[in-house]
Parts: sequence; C-alpha cells; structure tokens
Amino acid sequence: MSTDDQILIVGGGLGGLTAALGLARRGRSVRVLEGAPEFGAIGYGIQFGPNVFHAFDRLGISDQVLAVADTPPALLMLDVLTGKVLVRIPTGASFRARFKYPYIIVHRIDLHNVLLDACRRNGAIELVPDAMVKSFEDGGDRVAVTTADGRSFSGAALIAADGFRSLFRAALIGDGEPRWTGYAAMRTILPMAELEADVPRDCVVLWGGPGCHIVHYPLRHGSEFNLVAVFRTSTYAEKGDAASYRAELKETYRDAHPTTHALIAMIDLQWRRPIGDRAPVRHWHKGRIVLLGDAAHAPLQSLAQGAGMAIEDGLCLAETIHAANGDYGQAFRRFEQLRLVRTARVQLESRAMWDFFYHVGGIERDVRNATVAGWDEAYLFDCLSWLYDGFELKSANGR
Ligand SMILES: Cc1cc2nc3c(=O)[nH]c(=O)nc-3n(C[C@H](O)[C@H](O)[C@H](O)COP(=O)(O)OP(=O)(O)OC[C@H]3O[C@@H](n4cnc5c(N)ncnc54)[C@H](O)[C@@H]3O)c2cc1C
Repeated sequence: MSTDDQILIVGGGLGGLTAALGLARRGRSVRVLEGAPEFGAIGYGIQFGPNVFHAFDRLGISDQVLAVADTPPALLMLDVLTGKVLVRIPTGASFRARFKYPYIIVHRIDLHNVLLDACRRNGAIELVPDAMVKSFEDGGDRVAVTTADGRSFSGAALIAADGFRSLFRAALIGDGEPRWTGYAAMRTILPMAELEADVPRDCVVLWGGPGCHIVHYPLRHGSEFNLVAVFRTSTYAEKGDAASYRAELKETYRDAHPTTHALIAMIDLQWRRPIGDRAPVRHWHKGRIVLLGDAAHAPLQSLAQGAGMAIEDGLCLAETIHAANGDYGQAFRRFEQLRLVRTARVQLESRAMWDFFYHVGGIERDVRNATVAGWDEAYLFDCLSWLYDGFELKSANGR
C-alpha cells in the first residue's frame, strides 16, 4: 500500500484508536495525530455496555479488555433523598446469557493501553504524539494539516476524532458552543481501602434526585473506587477555589441521604467540568473529511455510551472506507446512514433521562419512583436491547 493512500486520524482517544485499528486490519496505512504530549488518557473510570464487545471482538482485543476490567453483579439506581433502591439491573449470568457479553467498568488508562498496545504492534499505524492540529485544508484529492509547532502532514482522507471541542466540527458544521446543561461534574478515584461510606462496593451505583446525581463503582479488581458527583449550579462555567467548591457541594447535597454526605466529603476539589452535549445533525462529513465520536454526536453521560458510540463509529467507518475502495464520499455517506439513528437515539434518550429520570424532584420524583417499581428484569432487558444488542456491522461492507 503506497503512503499516498495513508489516512490521517486527528485525535488518539478511544474513537480515533479504534478507527486506526479497524483500518489497519483492512490493510490501510494510517497516521494518528494526538495533540497531547503523550498518547494516553486522563485517569478515571468508564463504563461500557456489552455492545462494545462486538467491536472489540472484531479487533481481537476482547480478552485483553476483560483482563483489565471489572464485571459488576448489578447496576443500581437509588433515590438520592431516601437511599431506597429504585432499580436493580442484574448484570450477572442472566444478563450475559441475554446480551452475550458482560457489562464492564474499567480504568480509562487501562483500556487506552490495550488499544495503544494493539496499535503499536501493527506496522500500518504510525502514532504521532504532541501534534496539536491547528489548521487544515481539503485540496479535493488530499487533505493537509498543520500542527501548532508548524509541522505539516497530509493524507488521502482525514478522520476527525478530536472530541467534544472539535476543531473540525467547528469548521464543517459550525454550530457554535455545545449546549450547556447548567450542571457541573466533579470526580475522584481513591483507594478502596480509604472508602468509609457504607455503600455497595462491587456494583455500579447511581443516586439520582432533584438537580443532582452521584455515580460510583469499583475499578482495578476492586482495589480502587471511582466517584463522580454531578449537580446543577449557576457557577457551572466558572472557576472557584476549594473552599467555594466545598461549600457548594455541602449546600447542594444538604437534603440528600446521609450516606451521600460521606461520599461528597471524598470528592477531589481539583477536577470540575461543565456538562454539555450536542444536538443530533444529519451530516458529519465534507469532501475528504469526516467526524466521528464526540466530534460528531456528543451525548450526555446518562446512558454511559459516549465512548461506546465512538468505538462503534471507529470500526464502522473503517469498514465503509474499506468497502468503498477509494471513493471517500461514498464511504462517508454510508457511515452517516449506518450510524445516524443509533447515535441520535443515544443523544436524545440521554437528554430525556437527564431531565425526566435522573434529576427529578417533587411530584415528578413520585411519578418516577412509582413507575420504576413495576420494572422487572425481563422488562429492563427488553428496554436496553436496542443498545446492548450492539450494532450490526454486516451492512457496512455488504458482507
Ligand atoms: C463525567 C463523564 C462521564 C462519562 N462516562 C462515560 C461512560 O461511563 N461510558 C462512555 O461510553 N462514555 C462516557 N463518557 C463520554 C466519553 O468520555 C466520550 O464520549 C468519549 O471520550 C468520546 O471519545 P472520542 O474518541 O470521540 O473523543 P475523546 O476521548 O475526547 O478524544 C479526543 C482526542 O483528540 C485529541 N485532540 C483534540 N483536539 C485535537 C487537535 N486539534 N489535534 C490533535 N489532537 C486533538 C484529544 O487530546 C483527545 O486525545 C463520559 C463523559 C463524562 C464527561
């Protein structure tokens, strides 16, 4: 394969690396440009439904992923005010029998390293760290980019996997700032031995209630504890100091169940981000450039599927490029057709869950709690099947 056919991927996150592996597996040469000084992820936990294993199987990395992941026995939703368990989704044997693969929780760094190792073993993939792309030009038959330090690269096509604040989305779609929710997230990882709160240590637990939620789960075979607090605040976009963050957390969770107070006391006051998403759009490509993952369709994290969708995208796009045999317009259109409804559903359902399920108070909370009381395992599995049954790849390449 001549380097004239090489494809540029901007962004070495989970979506970009999956696309690189998917293309290399089909014999394509790729160069991945990552803006950070090193390839690797920021360290916190991430959840995946069984749907990602359809992609991991194809890439031959499922065993390596399972070796670094935990498989919780259940996903629990608790009322943040009373501590009552509202929903229990069993993720043990019956879940595995229904969805073929497990639900996993994993340290993002560990998953990233599995993908990076696979990329490094593949001679068709060149990884270029410290390459922050600042500008680009689509010349019709090739795409050229320039990095912040003045280097230039070019490729037959470009995959923009540059995440939530995508430079390429701004140019191709131009829909401005993300839609900010008015919520901020703060997260922490601590040794399990330091956890003092009386909470389930082996499950994924979501506490949901008026204007706030908390998520926690174990990592690294139960040796670490991942904790995220998300809450509505008028200061979501502002930077504060530790004392103001501490006071705000205390006030926000004042009426929450006492157990959550012990959790909130463990929150690291350094990491705080505003939470936003994107509305679905129909087209993610122009000429020889295509967006994937968060750059194309960033959701809220209610379904814990943003990275899952980026991974599914990466493999799907690699297959449509392979099948189109050099016709990038056709490959990118097919990719959009195959991925639009599924990713838009994740965006829209995540918004609905955020507003009408996670964060409700008053009568809405009474209705939520009464409604979910009738949900049994069979019903929950049916509700989740559109997502967890995975994405059918066969149609991507006609086989
Ligand atoms: C609090 C929170 C919890 C979440 N939990 C989950 C979860 O449990 N499960 C789940 O599936 N999803 C979760 N998500 C969503 C998930 O993090 C994202 O959807 C996912 O990371 C998107 O992957 P990506 O590859 O598209 O982009 P990213 O992971 O953002 O990767 C983009 C990469 O591009 C690089 N980059 C950016 N700009 C440039 C440039 N100009 N030049 C070169 N490189 C560039 C960045 O450095 C980065 O490495 C969560 C999100 C949040 C905020």
